[in-house]
Amino acid sequence: MRLKLDANENPIPLPKEAREGLTERLASTELSRYPDGEAWELRRALARYAGVDIRQVLVGNGGDEVIFMACHAFALGGRVAVVGPTFEMYEDAARSLGAEVFTVQLDGDFLFEPGEVIAARPDLVFICRPNNPTGNLYPPQLVLECLRSGAVVFVDEAYIEFSLDAGMSRFLASEERLMIGRTMSKAFGLAGVRLGYVLAPEELVRRLERVRQPYNVGCLAQAAGLFMLENLPLVESMARRIRAWRQDLYRGLQAIDGIEAYPSETNFILFRPLACDPDLLWRALRDKGVLIRRYPGHQVLRKYLRVSVGTPEENALFLKTLGEILGGVGDKDSCGRAKDTGDGSQGQALS
Ligand code: PMP
Repeated sequence: MRLKLDANENPIPLPKEAREGLTERLASTELSRYPDGEAWELRRALARYAGVDIRQVLVGNGGDEVIFMACHAFALGGRVAVVGPTFEMYEDAARSLGAEVFTVQLDGDFLFEPGEVIAARPDLVFICRPNNPTGNLYPPQLVLECLRSGAVVFVDEAYIEFSLDAGMSRFLASEERLMIGRTMSKAFGLAGVRLGYVLAPEELVRRLERVRQPYNVGCLAQAAGLFMLENLPLVESMARRIRAWRQDLYRGLQAIDGIEAYPSETNFILFRPLACDPDLLWRALRDKGVLIRRYPGHQVLRKYLRVSVGTPEENALFLKTLGEILGGVGDKDSCGRAKDTGDGSQGQALS
């Protein structure tokens, strides 16, 4: 595969100097000892980064583990509401732990009605902000209203560094059932390392601690996370560049006839081919070495595709390949689209 734009990874390689610094740090880690089970140094650095108390931070083996821990601690065999379409892991984790899952559907503007969340009488609510895969940020008020359900509300901020929003950690002091999930896989560029964390009021962290395995984050992961937190200007510059590249990619997608692209506050863009089958388009791209994300069989998302923001060179190659496929010669282009016909569905989002 020439281009991998399917998993919302950070496309920027670590600069040589940082890579050497990190290698040195990892080399001096004592591998024969168990890691610090409390991950004190890493949690202290995360607390400073997020502007919260260290007792309000818990770390996990990727954001995925943190999601599982939340389901285990707050919804084992219970009721979980998920605002979506969204990241599938919430539903998968909840179901695997015996919970009943209710999906509160997004409307055509990718927004939702908090009353529907409250009506589901959940123990735990998952809200992804900004949302994967729609890319938008819900107004904080929508999230705060969900807290009236009495449930623990898990706000997933995996992509928050790519938006200009400060996130919802400022509400932790006043909202005792608010929990924020984050990851170092995206803006921090550590997807392979597996590091995620939770910011939550102390009482919720204590409850998560009861289901956390003692050494859930290894010493190499702790060292790598700490290293990146000591190099925040590097992280900030990566996020800034990716934001700028996202805007170029968005404009490039919009300029292609037959594509509707949706604005994004993340490092990916959701788009909809208006007059051709998304699955055929996905295959045509794959056959040319370009991997993006499709949603075959999904009730709502099957009409959409999602592309991660790559480097400018990668984005240009993706746009060129997409343009070539959609502009194919003959009565039909190479993704099965009859020339000059539309299906009249332009402009309908998530319907
Ligand atoms: N939350 C969201 C919304 C995601 O999209 C992802 C990964 N794509 C994660 C959490 C988990 O990330 P990780 O396990 O790599 O930390």
